[in-house]
Amino acid sequence: MAFDPRETIRETVSQRACDHKGCSAEGAHRAPKSRSEPGQFHWFCLEHVREYNKSWNYFEGMSDAEVEDYRHNTNTWHRPTWGVTGKSQRTGHKYAIFEGIDDQYGLFRDGALGIDGLAARPAKRRVTGPVEKALRRLGLPSEATPQEVKFRYKELAKRFHPDLNGGNKEAEERLKRINEAYSYLLSAKHV
Ligand SMILES: [Zn+2]
Repeated sequence: MAFDPRETIRETVSQRACDHKGCSAEGAHRAPKSRSEPGQFHWFCLEHVREYNKSWNYFEGMSDAEVEDYRHNTNTWHRPTWGVTGKSQRTGHKYAIFEGIDDQYGLFRDGALGIDGLAARPAKRRVTGPVEKALRRLGLPSEATPQEVKFRYKELAKRFHPDLNGGNKEAEERLKRINEAYSYLLSAKHV
């Protein structure tokens, strides 16, 4: 029988079990272990790679200051180092393209996985960490749309404007914090 390289690959893959504890399904899908272990991967079945990618947070374990540093020192904000991003033609949202994972299930199709939190479904953006904090400061839920963020910002900026508050210090301070949160969301391309 002639040598068929595809046979070899299939055998290699089928020998690998899903890394999820207690799961005996085939670990055919690759996912990065953590930021501190570049090039290290888990192998999961489809169900568990989905679950893993949903909870994967690049900024886990980083303090707010470290996240800020990261943001200032790189242009790859929100972009995982182990993949590349694309932009959905339909929603305009960024999404991750995962290296080494085939897309036979359409898992990584436009908008199937959003880059925000690495888990956004097309209808709902899920965010974590500093973006979520900034949204909360504006009194918004994490799934707020860019339109809702803009609207809310305008509303708050008006409400706490010094001219309408007789120079009230507290209002001034509130406005400052609102402005900070909003410029953060702008810089994180969340608005
Ligand atoms: Zn599994």
